[in-house]
Amino acid sequence: MKLGELKTELLYLSDAHLYEFDANILKIIDIDEENAYFILNRTAFFPQGGGQPADHGLIISTEGKAKVVDVQEKEGDVYHKVKILEGTFKENDAIRGKIDATRRLKFMRAHSGSHLLFGAIKAVLGHIEYAGFEISEDKIRMDIQYPGKVTKEVLDKAEILANKVMIEDRPMKTYTITTKEAIEKFGEELSFAKELPDEILRIVEIPEWDIAACSGTHCLSSGMVRMIKIIGSYRLQENVERVEFLVGEQAILNALRSLKELDNISKQLQVEKGNIIREIGRIKKELETLQKENIKLRKEMAGYKLQDLVEKEQEQVGDYKLVVGEVPMLSTKEIVAFVKETCLKDRNLILVVGSYEKSAYIVGGLGEDVKGAVNISEIIHEAAQELGGRGGGGPTLAQGGGPMKVKLKDALSLAKSKIKQKILGK
Ligand SMILES: [Zn+2]
Repeated sequence: MKLGELKTELLYLSDAHLYEFDANILKIIDIDEENAYFILNRTAFFPQGGGQPADHGLIISTEGKAKVVDVQEKEGDVYHKVKILEGTFKENDAIRGKIDATRRLKFMRAHSGSHLLFGAIKAVLGHIEYAGFEISEDKIRMDIQYPGKVTKEVLDKAEILANKVMIEDRPMKTYTITTKEAIEKFGEELSFAKELPDEILRIVEIPEWDIAACSGTHCLSSGMVRMIKIIGSYRLQENVERVEFLVGEQAILNALRSLKELDNISKQLQVEKGNIIREIGRIKKELETLQKENIKLRKEMAGYKLQDLVEKEQEQVGDYKLVVGEVPMLSTKEIVAFVKETCLKDRNLILVVGSYEKSAYIVGGLGEDVKGAVNISEIIHEAAQELGGRGGGGPTLAQGGGPMKVKLKDALSLAKSKIKQKILGK
């Protein structure tokens, strides 16, 4: 048998709602004991193609029963991959095919929904081109070619339009026509994937909405789609936007879930649904004010801690008073100002303060009488190296810092011991 020799008659092309049919097995290709491919003289099983998955279902004869798990078309022959459930099958057997109607209806709604949505996006944006389509378990995706931006506002409008035309329950007509006739008749109006085969085309038409060349299965009228809900979109590549959506039961359940969530939010916020956005704006503003106040208070507290540090942590080292400590949440600028001011007031003071915000830093200062006894710039530079950075400054005031916040304590104790060593000479 040559590929394509048998040419299965495709019943779904003329009647997409035929879920049961009679046929004969022309050829059986065994895979193993339980699995085989059946080629029939006619079939209503849709073979995977054009983004639509294969139909599933049953093939039953007087002698056996088989489950159809996949359907593929190769050069006009349709291969039904089956798992034998009961009995046996042989070539020339008369069979009855039963299609999983729930699964098929889902795909038909998806296909029909994509035609409705394509027409709607076209109505909003003007000329767009069809660039791909695929149905998967949890969503449907449609790719459209358009050079400009496809905004959320555009898709929101299109979604409403598509649902309106869906509700109008317009007929979805399918018929065949030659490519030449189609181009003459519809021209630019015809939506199709880039290349048109130069032969007979199958046209799917929603009057005054969308005319497409498509060999998928569709609902008899637009109302059967039940609902179209866009769930996302993104730029797939230059000039191509991918739109993801749901139809039928999935769309309705998704919409109901969203409404339920909205109910919960309104309950949590204790406002009417219509006022949620305004309330969130108010809460955000309030939070901003509180955050600002919080920072202000923390800074004030840090200022007190700094004061406390100088009063309580003094250590007599030779003729001088040494204070080394850590106060979080202050900027270098604030610490520099404090160290400068405190050292001006106390001639015998050596003050080293460490702090951190995004990174860690150390500021050191000397009172007038300590000058010459300690090179504070050198000490701070060495301590800053502990923090993975560097430091420097003048003879009475120096600062430094680095990214390693966890090393702040080590850096401070290094500064302390270096200063003691300098003064006490050991
Ligand atoms: Zn279609």
